[in-house]
Amino acid sequence: MSKKVRVRFAPSPTGGLHLGGVRTVLYNYLFAQKYGGDFIVRIEDTDQSRYVAGAEEYIFDTLKWCGLEPDESVQHGGDFGPYRQSERKDSYRQYAEQLVKEGNAYYAFDTSEELEKMRAEYKSEQNPSPQYDQTLRMKMKNSLTISAEETKKLLEANAEHVIRIKVPENETVAFTDMIRGEVHFDSSLLDDKVLLKADGMPTYHLAVVVDDCLMQITHAFRGEEWLPSAPVHILLWKYLFGIENMPQWAHFPLILGPNGKLSKRDGSKYGFPVFSMNWMDPKTNELTEGFKEKGFIPEGFINLLALLGWNDGTEKEIFSLEELIEAFSMERVHSAGAKFDYEKAKWFNHEWIKKSGVGSLKSGVKKLLEQSGVTVADEALLDKVIELVKDRCTLLPDFVQQSSFFFKAPETLDTDSVKPKWNDAKQLFFVELIRNYELTQQWNTATLESNFKEIASVNSLKPGELMLPFRIMLVGGKFGPGVFDIANVLGKGETINRIKTALDIFSTH
Ligand code: GLU
Repeated sequence: MSKKVRVRFAPSPTGGLHLGGVRTVLYNYLFAQKYGGDFIVRIEDTDQSRYVAGAEEYIFDTLKWCGLEPDESVQHGGDFGPYRQSERKDSYRQYAEQLVKEGNAYYAFDTSEELEKMRAEYKSEQNPSPQYDQTLRMKMKNSLTISAEETKKLLEANAEHVIRIKVPENETVAFTDMIRGEVHFDSSLLDDKVLLKADGMPTYHLAVVVDDCLMQITHAFRGEEWLPSAPVHILLWKYLFGIENMPQWAHFPLILGPNGKLSKRDGSKYGFPVFSMNWMDPKTNELTEGFKEKGFIPEGFINLLALLGWNDGTEKEIFSLEELIEAFSMERVHSAGAKFDYEKAKWFNHEWIKKSGVGSLKSGVKKLLEQSGVTVADEALLDKVIELVKDRCTLLPDFVQQSSFFFKAPETLDTDSVKPKWNDAKQLFFVELIRNYELTQQWNTATLESNFKEIASVNSLKPGELMLPFRIMLVGGKFGPGVFDIANVLGKGETINRIKTALDIFSTH
């Protein structure tokens, strides 16, 4: 590659960021990092009617959370700004005019009633939704059907109009997609897309091509849903800037949910998140839960996204961001839809929680514990607890159940699991255990366990039958890490207190 690699993520700020959108960010980012290139975020907000307040900020918050920082953007600056298309509005008309002048586009003056009429008139069984295209354009009111003077007059009178691309007849529009190889389109199936709207704003089609050129984008990567738009973009490149200057394209596979394409609207429908982070729709105040709030950590989220449509050709599944940069190649991205499996997604997160250091988990866990009403006064205790329980946590909120009891004695004990089998022998065992533990000099897991077993054996009791009551004394229920590990972390005083409190309850119930 001779030119410096420049890739872009070009979201429209219309709502929360779907996991497919974050995967597009990730693949762009990986490619840029791999080739020492630039990763640009360009906000495509030319469709003002779809603009949603807060969506742009949400996109950048997601990138920050994921650690996928752009090199250039509205927030990061750069030499190719502005990075918001609405602020580049004035730069587009000249390209649309140039296309008209060179015979590749035309002014269209049809009113919405006229367009409506055309659709009704030409609607048939074979053609249920007639398009403004090469078969119909000569029947409409545009600069191809009216005289040059009339066109001039209308334009001078500021008559409402749009500029449409004049799709050529009988041409095969082809390009090479880095994932799909040669892709061909029959131009007779394409419609004459609007390029410049009546309000003077470009449509996405014109803006994306102009900006990819002006921002010197070398590779344009996006989701498969944009593949049908590609031929229009290829034609615009050919007419405006030359095919030889066109970026290389790649269209990422769709992400499939339980019932086909996973869409934004699937939100909480399937019981798993679709958005990166919580998204509150400002119009309806409807909250859609995100992966972040569900308890995914960025490393897990990135890893699961990377593998949604790509692998390195081996069985390897766990990749850090650095490893992904090293291993990623566009050619290994699949063209077939990638099935999203929530259980697998959680597995990735679990693996990453296990691999994570206490330091990176600490603030998130502390916040969750405090939100659940647990005060974490002892930071050193928190460190020990996280280390001890992290292997049992799949999502961050699991830490609350797995560790609250370290900071606060259980309020209720699962007596039902103990009482039916409780007897004097067990009661005496624990009385002896208290005495033993009080005298123990070495408060560590191994000693606590061997003393426990020793006393059981001397009293001809099975340690297995005593462990469950012991766990319930310390934890309240049948969960948590190894019971002697728990006692070790709780410390002598607290362990003995909990045994005493529980003995009172078990013997009086
Ligand atoms: N604005 C388009 C979107 O919302 C960008 C598509 C492209 O990358 O060309 O996804």
